[in-house]
Amino acid sequence: MKQSPQPCYGCGGTADSDAVALNKKLLGEKVSKFFCLSCLAENLGVSVEDLLAKIEEFKAAGCKLFG
Ligand SMILES: [Zn+2]
Repeated sequence: MKQSPQPCYGCGGTADSDAVALNKKLLGEKVSKFFCLSCLAENLGVSVEDLLAKIEEFKAAGCKLFG
């Protein structure tokens, strides 16, 4: 199921559908604050490239949060 884009809690930008799905995957499905990929990367101490790789992994695994 494709997620609806959400405002980023960190920078006021937009967390797109994949970013929202990744927030839920990494922080729990009940999260109410979402971060765009660059803010999420900064919070987790990883690179945006790492997160993009994670998204591809979850998609390849058939995770239903990713549309
Ligand atoms: Zn942000």
